[in-house]
Amino acid sequence: MKSHGYAAHDTKSPLVPYSFERREPGPRDVVLEIAYCGICHSDIHQVRDEWGGAIYPMVPGHEIVGTVTAVGGDVKKFKAGDLAGIGVMVYSCRTCANCKADLENYSMKQFVGTYNAKDYDGSITYGGYSNNIVCDERYVHTISPKFGDKLSGVAPLLCAGITTYSPMRHWGAGPGKKVGVVGLGGLGHMGLKFAHSFGAHTVQFTTSESKVADAKRLGADEVVISKDANAMARHAASFDFILDAVSAPHNLNDYLKLLKLDGTLCLVGLSEKQLPVAPFSLTSYRVALAGSNIGGMKETQEMLDYCADHGIVSDVEVVSVAQIGEAYERVLKSDVKYRFVLDMATLG
Ligand code: NAP
Ligand code: ZN
Repeated sequence: MKSHGYAAHDTKSPLVPYSFERREPGPRDVVLEIAYCGICHSDIHQVRDEWGGAIYPMVPGHEIVGTVTAVGGDVKKFKAGDLAGIGVMVYSCRTCANCKADLENYSMKQFVGTYNAKDYDGSITYGGYSNNIVCDERYVHTISPKFGDKLSGVAPLLCAGITTYSPMRHWGAGPGKKVGVVGLGGLGHMGLKFAHSFGAHTVQFTTSESKVADAKRLGADEVVISKDANAMARHAASFDFILDAVSAPHNLNDYLKLLKLDGTLCLVGLSEKQLPVAPFSLTSYRVALAGSNIGGMKETQEMLDYCADHGIVSDVEVVSVAQIGEAYERVLKSDVKYRFVLDMATLG
C-alpha cells in the first residue's frame, strides 16, 4: 500500500518528505487515515540514534489517531468511518506468559515497535508521521466519540498517557498518597493530570520556573523547583511514589532521598546516559528504584476510556509537518506546552 510522510535519513539531517510502501492489508488488518500524530521525546532519541539500533529511513510517530478507511474480512472491532488509535506497539508474540497476561508491552520476544523496528514478516515498520497506517486490529484502540473535537489532544494519550497512567495505577496513586512527578513535559503533564485525578496529593518537580503556574493549573497541589536545594530538603522522606519523566541525565539520588519508608521512584524517562545511584539513597528508608514501559493493550484501552469519561486530554500545540524541526528544537529546550501534535492534513 502506498504511503507518504516525513522521514529521517541519518542522525543529523532534518526530516524530509518520503514516499514508501506498507504491506497490503490482510484479513485481520485495519487501515487508518491518520489525522494527528504526537511528537514524543522518544522520536527524537531514536531519530538521533541515542539508544542505538536506528534503522533509516525512519518515519517516527507512535501517538496516532485517525479514521478507519478499510478493514480486512476477519476484523470484528472496527468498521470504516470509526475513530481509532495506535500507540507504541503494532505486534507481539501473543504466546509468552506476559502477552497472555495482557502485558504485551513486556512481551518476552519484544513487541514490534510502531516504527524503527523489524516486523514478524521481516519488513521495517514506519510510524505515524504519515498519511496512513496498516495494523492488526489487536493493536488498534477504540477512541470514544465522547472526546468530541479534542482529537488532537487524544493522540498523546497513546504513549504519554499510558506510560504515566500504568505506573500510577500499579503503585496505587490515590487518596492518602503523596505522589511526585519529575519533569513537566509531554509525559510529566499527563502523569500530573492522572495523579491529581486519582486523588493523590500531587507535587510537581520542575527545572523551569516559568512552568509553576501551569503545573498548578494542571493539578499540582505543590510545585518544587528542583534546583532549589532547600525546597527539595523540605520534602525529605515524605513521598509514597515519585514518577520520573526526565529525558536527560539528572541526579536520581536527589529524588530517592524524598521517598519515605518503602516508597518507590519509578523511571519512565529514558536518558541515553547511565544514571548513578548511591547505595545509601536506597538503604536509608528501604526504598525501591523501579521502571515502567508504556502499558499493555488492555490497560491502554482502559486509560483511553477513563480519559473519555473524565474529560482528560493532553494539552497540545498543533503544528504542521513543515514545523517538525522547529518542534524538535523546542522539545530539546524543554519548551513544549505540553505536547506537539502534527496535523497530518498539512501533509498535502
Ligand atoms: P519532554 O516533553 O521533552 O519532557 C521532558 C522534561 O524533562 C522536560 O520538559 C523538562 O521538564 C525535563 N528535563 C529535560 N531536560 C532535563 C535535565 N537536563 N534535567 C532535569 N530535567 C530535565 O519528553 P517526553 O516526551 O515527556 O519524554 C520523557 C522521557 O520519557 C524521554 O526520555 C522519552 O524517551 C521517555 N519515554 C519513555 C516511555 C516509557 O515507556 N518508559 C514512553 C515514552 C517516552 P521541566 O522543564 O519541568 O524541568
Ligand atoms: Zn512515546
